[in-house]
Amino acid sequence: MGRKADREVLIVVDVQRDFCPGGALAVPGGDEIVPIVNRLAREFAHVVLTQDWHPAGHASFASAHPGRAPFETIEVAYGPQTLWPDHCVQGSDGASFHPALDIPHAELVIRKGHHRNIDSYSGFRENDRRTPTGLAGYLRERGFERVTLCGLATDYCVAFSALDAREFGFDTAVVPTACRGIDLDGSLARALAAMREAGVLLRS
Ligand SMILES: [Zn+2]
Repeated sequence: MGRKADREVLIVVDVQRDFCPGGALAVPGGDEIVPIVNRLAREFAHVVLTQDWHPAGHASFASAHPGRAPFETIEVAYGPQTLWPDHCVQGSDGASFHPALDIPHAELVIRKGHHRNIDSYSGFRENDRRTPTGLAGYLRERGFERVTLCGLATDYCVAFSALDAREFGFDTAVVPTACRGIDLDGSLARALAAMREAGVLLRS
């Protein structure tokens, strides 16, 4: 295997317009991380971006469930699912990356959430915990051993991706200063605890 830098990859999770202030599912302060993420990305020879990418009428949208409101939880085939405002619809402006995100050397964009009936918080596996996105296979084939994550939101897509990275056998770190959370009913504290418990390094 090559030098250490070639075994490490930064995964930038869902830094998209809809997750930033003014977007359909804005994470408080989501846009504040953009310059931090740009700077962090320059420390890495290899970067992968994830992009939430739903078809219109996606099952994670409250609008697809008559009588339901965003942020309610329902039971679906694979367990509980939080309902969200319509967001990151394929090809929409909201689904595009934040315009100030500046990582020209990113090598892969992995799109997730494109199956109509399955949501996908993790960049590795959809919420049924069975449907792979292909990211683990890609990282293994490239010889990456250590994964560092940042992006939006800390307590959903970043945490789920980090926990899966651990489960798939990667050394895993998260940079909390380069993330922002949604914090729905204590979800941020729970996510940080779960990551620590799973051996995810929370680094500065
Ligand atoms: Zn989504």
